[in-house]
Amino acid sequence: MKEIILIKNGEIALKGLNRGTFEDVLVKNIKRRLSPYMQADIKKSQSTIMIEPLGEGADMDSAVEALKRVFGIAGFSRAAACEKDMEVIKSTAVEYLKTSFESIKTFKVEAKRSDKAFPLNSPQICNELGGEILSNYPFLRVDVHNPDLVVNVEIRDKYAFIHGNQIKGAGGMPIGTSGRAAVMISGGIDSPVAAWTMAKRGLVLDAIHFASPPYTSKRAEQKVHELLGKVSKYSGTINLLVVPFTEIQEHIKDDCPEELFTIIMRRMMMRIAVNLAKQQGCGAIITGESLAQVASQTLWALGCTDAVATMPVFRPLIGTDKNEIVEISRKIDTFDISIQPYEDCCTVFTPKHPKLRPSLEEVEAAEAALDMDGLIKRAVAGVERLVIDKSLEV
Ligand code: ATP
Ligand code: MG
Repeated sequence: MKEIILIKNGEIALKGLNRGTFEDVLVKNIKRRLSPYMQADIKKSQSTIMIEPLGEGADMDSAVEALKRVFGIAGFSRAAACEKDMEVIKSTAVEYLKTSFESIKTFKVEAKRSDKAFPLNSPQICNELGGEILSNYPFLRVDVHNPDLVVNVEIRDKYAFIHGNQIKGAGGMPIGTSGRAAVMISGGIDSPVAAWTMAKRGLVLDAIHFASPPYTSKRAEQKVHELLGKVSKYSGTINLLVVPFTEIQEHIKDDCPEELFTIIMRRMMMRIAVNLAKQQGCGAIITGESLAQVASQTLWALGCTDAVATMPVFRPLIGTDKNEIVEISRKIDTFDISIQPYEDCCTVFTPKHPKLRPSLEEVEAAEAALDMDGLIKRAVAGVERLVIDKSLEV
């Protein structure tokens, strides 16, 4: 039996004149993601994308798993493709959806006929097929309002397609349709979720991580690689830039007031992140900050950090609670990695009583003690570059 995949693209359908461009990117992304599992012919028609495996040996199960992680897809279905003949449609449906029929109580048939030359109209198709299903599975009942299973029949130009309930897609916009942004990534729970959330809106990701050896270990950096490896299953390849941060932290500790250590450190991170993001061609910075979560995320602290950001800073988690963030991190499979106990540079030299309401004037005055240009220049020059998941290139 010939099996295909039918894709419903979500928000792209609302894109008016630009729709074609968005769809082309989505098709390209799908093709690349499916390439390890099948050679496929991918066609757009109306608001559906049809994937037809070519030749033998397509791995449909893996293809379906990969598609669940492609942004821009609202939902999709595996479908049987058969000859446009009512008898063939009946026998195909009864056989193809056998496992589903055996595990449900109620169903209904919905028919769509884009080939108007087909001899039966939609209600007639529903009647005929419904009757056939009932005679093969006599324990089933038809429920048109709230069925366990909707049996869909679509009569198209070349084939009739038969499929059951839709599989939920990842939603969002296709990667590459919204430009590029750099996520500031720690080993914690929040920043991988922030990265995923913004990739979902179609951004290509770069990642920036600050490391402070010997206070932070290689193992802590490895954790960041693993987290990005999970995010890249959705976002595609991520360039990771690791910034040496030890010298800066030691200078802040020695030369600035202790209660301002955290906020000055955050501002240094932001200055360097913006510098690197510009080099990478990014249009925004992404962070995992959430209002009031810790001292550096009060309204006043965020204001001081934003004052040195010369590009937009996206904080998709700003209004979310920790448990909501944890829920997403479990869904994208980063949680178990994030909770492994390795030190982050943010926890090195943390003051006992960081100032919760720093003013920009006092922070700027305190920073005057630092050789700002020299520190930033040396950190940027020492950046180490890696590529996460090269095979998923976007
Ligand atoms: P997370 O769970 O994301 O680690 P956190 O609870 O540790 O966040 P903070 O340490 O205040 O919170 O960090 C806030 C944000 O700053 C992080 O979400 C991340 O975007 C960025 N950040 C923190 N540490 C680093 C780091 N070592 N390298 C790059 N960015 C970082
Ligand atoms: Mg956090």
